[in-house]
Amino acid sequence: MVAAILGVFVATGALAQAPMRIFDAHLHYNQEPNPFYDLSKVLEIFRRNNITGIIATSRPNKGTHQLVDAKGPGLTVVPFIRPYRTRSDIQTWFDDPAIWELIQAEYKRGYYRGIGEFHIYGKSAAGEQVRQIVNFAVERNLWLHAHCDEEALLLLFGHNPKARIVWAHTGFSTPPARVRELLDEYPGLMGELSYRGGITDAGGRLSAEWRALFASHSQRFLLGSDTWINERWFAYDTIIKGYREWLAQLPTEHAERIAHRNAEKLFGQAGD
Ligand SMILES: [Zn+2]
Repeated sequence: MVAAILGVFVATGALAQAPMRIFDAHLHYNQEPNPFYDLSKVLEIFRRNNITGIIATSRPNKGTHQLVDAKGPGLTVVPFIRPYRTRSDIQTWFDDPAIWELIQAEYKRGYYRGIGEFHIYGKSAAGEQVRQIVNFAVERNLWLHAHCDEEALLLLFGHNPKARIVWAHTGFSTPPARVRELLDEYPGLMGELSYRGGITDAGGRLSAEWRALFASHSQRFLLGSDTWINERWFAYDTIIKGYREWLAQLPTEHAERIAHRNAEKLFGQAGD
């Protein structure tokens, strides 16, 4: 049966033309109180976009538990602890002792690979609880998934230079030359590219600056959908299609790294 199905794929050339697999390194399955799509619909969206891995980070963490428990075929779920119970925690999590408790309690599930996505700006990152969380992550080999400005990013690394950080949105608008310097200075830094400005021009062509950055640093970037609101789920296919359009302008080796190989190297592959 399997051979027959494979035979059909090979005969039609579908296997050779399957779109490049993509690891979605910035995904939320938020539920406040109900998810926009039920689990089966979400798994179908991943299937039709050839999404083979996700960093799952949801508010509350229940959405991530469900994605882990779903054991979607061909899908690697890499769970991160979200330090939020409700949306308002975004403003206060970094010095709220209840959030430190939440992180400890969630970690006991035993399957988490990181903490985030969390939002932190400027000197808020200097606080004692943030230092505690960064050290907690380093000691347990966890990643941080930080939506932050450059000042906060430097403070996070200042707490512990061994931190490993997925930089959500790669600073949004931090000049590419500065992104390059930061990547060179901090080997534990990976740039996630959702909402990142300047990658393509109005016509969809890769900008010269980003083409050059991808040429030298293709091992340092990840893709993400950032399904933070329902509209992003509605637009999921379009978001992934947008990535494919500029990935196609890169040498295949570099495109594959950004699309999936970097994440697979860091977090493992489906079936591991
Ligand atoms: Zn997000």
